[in-house]
Amino acid sequence: MINEIAYGLGSNRSCIRELFEYGCRRAAEVGRENVYDYSLGNPSIPAPAAVDQAIRDILSDTPSLAVHGYTSAIGDLATRQAIADDLNARYAAGVRPEDLFIGCGAAPELVAVFRALAVSEAEVLAVAPYFPEYKPFVEGAGATLKVVPPDVPGFQIRLEAVEAMLSEHTVAIILNSPNNPAGTVYTRQTLENLAALLERKSAEFGHPIYIVADEPYRELVYGGVEVPFIPTIYRDTIVCYSYSKSLSLPGERIGYVYVPATATDNAALYAAIAGASRAAGHVCAPSLWQKVIARCAGLRPDLEAYDRNRKALYEGLVALGYEVAKPDGAFYLFVKAPGGDANAFSELAKQKDLLVVPGDGFGCPGYFRVCYCVSYEQIIKSLPVFGQLI
Ligand code: PLP
Repeated sequence: MINEIAYGLGSNRSCIRELFEYGCRRAAEVGRENVYDYSLGNPSIPAPAAVDQAIRDILSDTPSLAVHGYTSAIGDLATRQAIADDLNARYAAGVRPEDLFIGCGAAPELVAVFRALAVSEAEVLAVAPYFPEYKPFVEGAGATLKVVPPDVPGFQIRLEAVEAMLSEHTVAIILNSPNNPAGTVYTRQTLENLAALLERKSAEFGHPIYIVADEPYRELVYGGVEVPFIPTIYRDTIVCYSYSKSLSLPGERIGYVYVPATATDNAALYAAIAGASRAAGHVCAPSLWQKVIARCAGLRPDLEAYDRNRKALYEGLVALGYEVAKPDGAFYLFVKAPGGDANAFSELAKQKDLLVVPGDGFGCPGYFRVCYCVSYEQIIKSLPVFGQLI
């Protein structure tokens, strides 16, 4: 008497995890330095020193019971205020603390949002290439995931494809920019065009089509490229944010959902998200980490190491003849597989202890993903191997 869907999700590892585990086994056999593992998006720069200092300060200036006790279910007011202040300083977005729900990272926040929106026959669009976990998140909420085909080679959004896929059942479209796996950033123009389409279609269908902005990589952007704050372009936007990547805290499980005051049915929507989180057992995000964020909401990561890796890998692969999407953000490169079969390429690469993830799972066959949150030495050592493979 075990739920089959849950069993399936728990017993079949994702292709990314498979590759990562394989890499660990190979590292034990041939040495870590001889395995070029580009499989997993685990940050490779440490959390800013100010985060560690904030922990020490909190432990010394806050009573233990307050540090470790339950917080308000929606998160400490001080934390929500600090996040609102930071967002307002950067985007003049009019964020109020009561618009923020402190969550345990983007994954449970997305789950709560999809559950909040999952009316009968609800459909959610995702734009390929997309984060594969959207599928279990959306389907677990009882909604249907529909995938908008990729806009190759620039990886913006094919508006005509979105329009063709919108229906009266569409409740939301998920956007992830900077993008995992493409490393691309949606331009203001792309977002404005999409907003105009969604406004027109929302009016036609008589209900809002929300943008769910999945933004763990918002601060990871290079060369001064703009990452527009989507609620300032489209009012029916729900932001799911995470400090996993921006402050290198993926194991600590902390982030927030932002429901703008201007969003349609915002109070009911907020209540539904809080209720869905409650039903999933995800309330009262880790107390210590809420207190850290209250002190560190304005911190930005030092991206120098990622940027150095990005340039070395991008320039190295292009010089070898690879076709690579322009990597403006996150810490991923998305590369066209020589010969067109990314699974075959990944298998071949694996034989040389080079681990890259085929794009099929991201809804984009023919490409492979390279996570460059690794050491610079790995990149330099692995380029000749990429050279042998093309
Ligand atoms: N969304 C995207 C696009 C991601 O890449 C990830 C993690 O890699 C997540 C969500 C989940 O992030 P979190 O650690 O905040 O749950």
